[in-house]
Amino acid sequence: MKPSNPGAKATRRQRRIARRMAALGVPDFETPADCAKRQQRMVGRLRRRGAGRETTEGLADCSPKSCGMFECRDGCHFAARRFRHEMVPRATKIFEQREGPLWFVTVIHPDWSWPTTEPFSPDRIRQAQDWLATRLERLGKRNLLAIGSWEFCLNIELDGTCTWSGHLHFIIAGVTYDALEQALAISKVEATASGSRPLMIKPVVSRLARTIAYCIKMNSEQRLAYRDKTGRKNRNHLPLRAPEQYYFDHALCSIDKGARVFWFDAWPYMPDGIRIREV
Ligand SMILES: [Zn+2]
Repeated sequence: MKPSNPGAKATRRQRRIARRMAALGVPDFETPADCAKRQQRMVGRLRRRGAGRETTEGLADCSPKSCGMFECRDGCHFAARRFRHEMVPRATKIFEQREGPLWFVTVIHPDWSWPTTEPFSPDRIRQAQDWLATRLERLGKRNLLAIGSWEFCLNIELDGTCTWSGHLHFIIAGVTYDALEQALAISKVEATASGSRPLMIKPVVSRLARTIAYCIKMNSEQRLAYRDKTGRKNRNHLPLRAPEQYYFDHALCSIDKGARVFWFDAWPYMPDGIRIREV
């Protein structure tokens, strides 16, 4: 019998994953090498800046197939990749079987912002998910299907003020545009305070898998405000600077993997032991 080669087997498995994601329309899906590089940099940053063992434990031993600890952290690049390549094909299939329109929704509620000087609290995630749950309850549960996640990015205003801005991205089926817009409406007073459009609803007519992958991604950025030639406020999207990247990594490595993800209505799969919270 030919001896099995675990290395070659793992490579074949990763090629299969890449092919499957490409066939779904995600040709640039992160590779295990990308994850290894990001994980190594992240662990280095966390240790250099004095993050405790409770934050970094096990992260250096994570791999494409398994994690250094039974319950890894949300910041783990390998765990995030596994979750995405297991969840994206399943979610795509389930949404494809749904009749009626699909919507890609972004909610940037002004109440979900906090100063960069304030420590991260997982209550921020619950606050946004509870808000969404209350709003979706108004639509009734019948036929409604949604999956998405909470994430946060850095807003730098024209006067240099820095705030973290929490937001939700999700895909939803089983509802009309008007009903959805009404259920998620944010008052004008609140919207003005945020300085950006708090609610965006777009139809998903193609690139379903890509949109799902986007909704459950794991990264952050800085959005630097500037005035364009017409005097209108615009934002440049740039990578985070070192201190904010540390804040982001530290926050995600202090919560359980999957803590930011939510789903609504019956969901038959929970891949990789990740707990998906029903909002
Ligand atoms: Zn891990």
